[in-house]
Amino acid sequence: MDCEEFRAFGHQLIDWIADYRRECAEGARAVMAPVAPGDVRGRLPAEPPPDAQPLEDVLADLSNIILPGCTHWQDPRFFAYFPSNSSLAAVLGDLASTGLAQLGLNWQASPALTELEDLTTDWLRQMMGLSRHWSGAIQDTASTATLVALLCARERATNFAAARGGLQGCAEPLTVYMSSQSHSSVEKAALLAGFGRENLRVIPVDDAFRMQPQALHETIEADLRRGLRPCAIVATVGSTAVTAIDPLAPIAAMAGAHGVWLHVDAALAGAAMILPECRALWEGVEGADSLVVNAHKWLGASFDCSLYYVRDPQHLIRVMSTSPSYLRTAADETVRNLRDWGIPLGRRFRALKLWFLIREQGVNGLQTRLRRDLAHARWLAEHIDAAAHWRRLAPVPLQTVCVRHEPPGLDGDALDRHTLAWARRINESGQAYLTPAMLDGRWMVRVSFGVETTEHRHVEALWALMQSAAAAD
Ligand SMILES: *Cc1c(COP(=O)(O)O)cnc(C)c1O
Repeated sequence: MDCEEFRAFGHQLIDWIADYRRECAEGARAVMAPVAPGDVRGRLPAEPPPDAQPLEDVLADLSNIILPGCTHWQDPRFFAYFPSNSSLAAVLGDLASTGLAQLGLNWQASPALTELEDLTTDWLRQMMGLSRHWSGAIQDTASTATLVALLCARERATNFAAARGGLQGCAEPLTVYMSSQSHSSVEKAALLAGFGRENLRVIPVDDAFRMQPQALHETIEADLRRGLRPCAIVATVGSTAVTAIDPLAPIAAMAGAHGVWLHVDAALAGAAMILPECRALWEGVEGADSLVVNAHKWLGASFDCSLYYVRDPQHLIRVMSTSPSYLRTAADETVRNLRDWGIPLGRRFRALKLWFLIREQGVNGLQTRLRRDLAHARWLAEHIDAAAHWRRLAPVPLQTVCVRHEPPGLDGDALDRHTLAWARRINESGQAYLTPAMLDGRWMVRVSFGVETTEHRHVEALWALMQSAAAAD
């Protein structure tokens, strides 16, 4: 493809994306992809094309085969999982990133990539009201950021065992603490970082699903008495199922007293901290060692864009750096080399989509949208609370409402079947998409607000749909 062909097809593709997004906003398709496993692949040739094919054909297949196999995360009636907004400004930023085709191996390999990442992570730090003591870099996902955090914790607790015998050379087993509501990525990171399941402690939660500091304290003390070495605590601000907020202040005090690394997983809820009125929720965050916030969720920076912040970048760099000779440059002493801020060597120019987003929306624009979404969640919570036989299962500190319809005489497995049935009825109708989840061993339905195009009328329509779907069972 030459540049003129690219220009022509590029215009067509931008038109195609604009049409798609307009249709999404109008709710033109079933929100949840109405396909069965194998449907998409079954419509495509199993063998790669031996000869060049016209790009027109590729674009046609994009419309006719790929699009029908997509679930529409940008549809205003998407209330599943969590919002993963891809604001149109961020789409353009990401396109610019791919077009520029930069690889940030070190500062010299792309000075602008490095410096814009430095700047945009600092903008978001300011927007979230964090002190100057935090430095950030962009990782692909929160899962990776949490793995990096646990690797850093491990190396701090062992005085850099990786440079010697690794975990094999450690005298005392290292322990990690999370809550029963922590994201599955925390367990995965702890196992991958070599701590071992036997050394992973799951701390119970209170009736608002928050980690219980007293239980954490007792578990740490018990481990110390047994000669183990408490290494890291992962606290969650905005847990996956119910957006519970672990109390950071007492947890940070405990971490400080025992020299334990505190990592804060605010993957979803970090975005809310651009609202000054939400910041009390993570009071104590300044006492943490590391923090992850996904700009690719509620904020709108298009997947993937996880901001990983640390208090001590020198420690991070020492853990992550191997510095082979071909990557050293004369500027190394004075610049950031982002390869030493995470696991991969290569790095996309992810800061561009964040930069486009923040400039196009302004802080005020982003704040207005998030406040609207918080109001949507409050509205639904109030209606659920006022309705007969509907029960809200958790506080609503942010944008997620957890609900069950409990008709008289229904409990146990029969109630579970009812819950799954009305959720399935909604999802299969194509009129909205909600994800059921387990809470305390029983099914419930999560309503997660925050898609950029969701207006109040969509919330009203959803509540009507929930009531009719539950009544039809
Ligand atoms: C979404 C989420 C994650 C995982 O995010 P990825 O970026 O997909 O790895 C982890 N923790 C919490 C609390 C989340 O909401």
